[in-house]
Amino acid sequence: MIAAKTLSELAGALPGQLLGSDATITSISIDTRTVEPGQLFVAIKGPNFDGHNYVQAALDKGAAGVIVSEDRGAHPAVLVNDTEKALSQTGVLNRDAFQGTVLGVTGSSGKTSVKEMLAAIFSQVAPTLSTVGNLNNYYGVPVTLSRLTSEHQFAVIEMGTNSPGEIAHLTEIVRPHIAIVNNASISHVAGLGSLMGIVEEKGAIFDHLTSEGTAIVNLDDAHCGVWIERIAKNAGCRVLSFSLKNESATSWPSDITTDEEGMHFTLNLAGKKTQVNLQFWGKHQVANACAAAVMAHAAGLDIETIAAGLGAARPYARRGQRFRSENGAMIIDESYNANPDSTKASIDALADCSGYRMLVLGELSAEHYLNRDEGIRMHRELGEYASQAGIDHVLTCGELSAHVHDTFSGEGQHFSEKNALIDWLKPHLNAGVVVLVKGSMLTGMNDVVTACIAKT
Ligand code: ATP
Ligand code: MG
Repeated sequence: MIAAKTLSELAGALPGQLLGSDATITSISIDTRTVEPGQLFVAIKGPNFDGHNYVQAALDKGAAGVIVSEDRGAHPAVLVNDTEKALSQTGVLNRDAFQGTVLGVTGSSGKTSVKEMLAAIFSQVAPTLSTVGNLNNYYGVPVTLSRLTSEHQFAVIEMGTNSPGEIAHLTEIVRPHIAIVNNASISHVAGLGSLMGIVEEKGAIFDHLTSEGTAIVNLDDAHCGVWIERIAKNAGCRVLSFSLKNESATSWPSDITTDEEGMHFTLNLAGKKTQVNLQFWGKHQVANACAAAVMAHAAGLDIETIAAGLGAARPYARRGQRFRSENGAMIIDESYNANPDSTKASIDALADCSGYRMLVLGELSAEHYLNRDEGIRMHRELGEYASQAGIDHVLTCGELSAHVHDTFSGEGQHFSEKNALIDWLKPHLNAGVVVLVKGSMLTGMNDVVTACIAKT
């Protein structure tokens, strides 16, 4: 916490009432399972839980204090009217106190990957705060900002949304100097209504840029013009761009090749070029690297530093990590989540691999379609997409995935549950096989990865 070092300072700033003795605070936690000594525990109330039931547990684990809206006698505490609002306010206070450069990342796919690449780039030049994992929402963003210290010079903040107004709200807290919408596709449509609703929602990240700020747009995205107009109207700041194929973009790749080590390409950045060796796979990750490169360029970093940082970056857990099975098959773990576009990107990445290419697919997450018919259509489309991409074999699991199986023209088996899929798959693994595992978080397809990879 750079805004308040003690409970009394925080009580003064929020405002709230300090109950019990004062104490020094490090950062914020909203989860007693991971709360660390010295942290401030904020008791959030949700529809099915109430953090107030855990305040004593947090203090027992060494929390320096708690923020509550009901005093249940567990002290030290800061008593406020609304703990959720207080959490957002701590985000605003920390952001206000921060003197460094803030980078905001949103989009339908690739946020965490771009954020990991940016963290690797900036960490080479100065202490950098970045979102841990996927803490990108209403709660996660202020929790992330609470970890700012006076050492940090850069903050890379992932911002996600599944209901209208979330990006606008997060942008008011984060107020990035450099902001990007990586792309917009039918993800979280159930909460956001339509593709245009998604485009609008994501575009809110540009609304608080000052005239000195920089907006980054994806020239390959069909909605890029909508964002450019919005930026001109609201922010009037500099606009830079990236693309996989448009040479007029600020950042674009040429001579892309791939091998076991990752993707290799020439990065063309604002009139300069250099070689990048990226330890991520798939053209979508080259696009993410170009996005990270133009953001770092906007922050003043030179192309060689950017290339070195990209070379040092690694995929985050379950977003493209590669493993070997005991008998030498390549297992690609994309099991974190699945929307239609990210699944197509994964299929393309698998298609680029050499060997017998097998796709293991659980269902897409239901938040990506509005009704069952649309869900069926999306799954059918994925079967067709995998056929056209030349995937050799598709193993599906879960009710709607049966429609992928129906439309896929190559070899395939459908399973009603994942253990049967695992039992079928394991004896078919060998050194000539590449398996990509994808599915929504709820389908737990990471269990397929765990069951297949070599135990060390
Ligand atoms: P979430 O909404 O779950 O936070 P995210 O936007 O942070 O997702 P990542 O975690 O980086 O995205 O990647 C998730 C998946 O999306 C990857 O496993 C990959 O399949 C796909 N993906 C990543 N980048 C892109 C991209 N630029 N275009 C399309 N798909 C992508
Ligand atoms: Mg993410």
